[in-house]
Amino acid sequence: MAEQNKKKIRKYIFVVGGVMSGVGKGITTSSIGALLKARGFSVTAIKIDPYINIDAGTMNPTEHGEVFVLEDGDETDQDMGNYERFLDTTLSRTNYMTTGRVYQTVIENERNLKYKGKCVQVVPHIPLEVIRRIEKAAEKADADITVIEVGGTAGEYENILFLETARMLELRSPDDVSFVMVSYIPTPKMVGEMKTKPTQHAVRALNSAGIQPNVIIARSEGPMDTVRKDKIATFCNIKKENVISAPDVESIYEVPLNFEKDHLSDILLESLKLKPRDGDLKEWNNLVKKVKNGKKEVHIAIVGKYFQTGNFVLSDSYVSVIESIKFSAWQEGVKPVIHWLSSEDFEGKNTAANIRTLSKYHGIIVPGGFGSRGIVGKLAVIEHARKKKIPYLGLCYGMQLQVLEFARNVAGMKNASSREIDPDAADLVIDIMPDQKKKMEEEDYGGTMRLGAYPALLKKGTIAYEVYGKKKEISERHRHRYEVNPEYVKRLEDAGLIFSGTSPDGELMEIAELPRGVHPFFVGSQFHPEFKGRPFAPHPLFTSFIKAGLKPKKK
Ligand code: GLN
Repeated sequence: MAEQNKKKIRKYIFVVGGVMSGVGKGITTSSIGALLKARGFSVTAIKIDPYINIDAGTMNPTEHGEVFVLEDGDETDQDMGNYERFLDTTLSRTNYMTTGRVYQTVIENERNLKYKGKCVQVVPHIPLEVIRRIEKAAEKADADITVIEVGGTAGEYENILFLETARMLELRSPDDVSFVMVSYIPTPKMVGEMKTKPTQHAVRALNSAGIQPNVIIARSEGPMDTVRKDKIATFCNIKKENVISAPDVESIYEVPLNFEKDHLSDILLESLKLKPRDGDLKEWNNLVKKVKNGKKEVHIAIVGKYFQTGNFVLSDSYVSVIESIKFSAWQEGVKPVIHWLSSEDFEGKNTAANIRTLSKYHGIIVPGGFGSRGIVGKLAVIEHARKKKIPYLGLCYGMQLQVLEFARNVAGMKNASSREIDPDAADLVIDIMPDQKKKMEEEDYGGTMRLGAYPALLKKGTIAYEVYGKKKEISERHRHRYEVNPEYVKRLEDAGLIFSGTSPDGELMEIAELPRGVHPFFVGSQFHPEFKGRPFAPHPLFTSFIKAGLKPKKK
């Protein structure tokens, strides 16, 4: 009985940044998780974002990157997507927190008399709430090891309370907590060699928060030599073996293997007093082989408004779409080449010439988006893809626009539009549903989005049915406000569009397609399949789209 009541020992690894952000803390966290999972431990990951926003849903993707949606509808940071992909796991809102969330809970607790007359203070009450959240996530996943990424870098004002949390947790059980610092080692052109001084300062900043790193991930352009490792070891008070060389790599999926060259998982297990178990990185080795082996190229164009043509590409806004394309291409043994097309290039005077260039792509994607900017160009591209039989995949907004294009140009509704684009249009083929409309009128914007996993039923004999392996029911993640207006479904179907997936009550259209005899692949989904694409389990919609693109064209 006593045995049963004994609490399971849970271990925690905090990943913090040094020198500057954007050098791969998320990929490090994901890779550590993947390595420890491959060593036979159950692992989960947590992202802490040190801003006031309650979630990432209100943040502009051009500034903050993709909003990654979880099964439970939580709108989170794109790093959560990397964790799900690298750990091949499904996370929930317990795995994500922001400063805003933590304060909100503490304030609610105070109002609900939970602190029993005590003065509620930033320290310890905020760190204690962070610890409660971390422990809850570990328990929910029944994780042996929880890897926690602290946003920002050491020395910043914003994440100081999270570092304080980590320090308190370590004080409570020193053997159960380990610290990894991801630091940047620049090689200034005029010096021509790696400089470790910024890292020394970053470690000092971390030390002043009461934390000594166990491991330093040295992010640099090239591999790190022993001279530099020695220097970091001496001046940062860390064992030389615990300095891990992390040079730039071609593909992020090489990172776990690279870390293992410096024995990272053994070092972490030792620091957590865990007995090493035999691990197997076969899956990862195979993946990297596939990444490198593909010779034949598949050219996929993504049309959006968040980027311009040329070198300036905000691909961060579409990470999950890009990764999903890659996984499916690698599975098919080909090398994905992604082209970013700006919708505005298909609106002005060069439209006709630019449209002609589209036939060189194996497939075209119009991804999710909001607002009316760039719509004209996207519709022109979709029309061309339909007429010229270029494989097309519409993701959320891309599906709504596909339906609009069809309504206007095939079903004879010239003025068809979406309430989001033109609320006064004669035919609102894409509209808001009555319940949501009421909420909009009450200015309850939070409640007007369809978020997270919803089931859909598939129609037999359709492309979608085939794509999903003849499953009757599927579940996919959503993030949108508008829907295909049920009043127009019959007219669209009569004109030849097939709604091959619908909500179980048949009211909401989930997948739109043209039959195989008419077009090789003209499919759009109201949901975002990209959120469920995994390196070891590519998403079937992306795979079928790529396969269609690789098929020789019929003349
Ligand atoms: N803007 C559309 C809607 O709100 C599509 C959203 C999206 O693509 N994620 O319904």
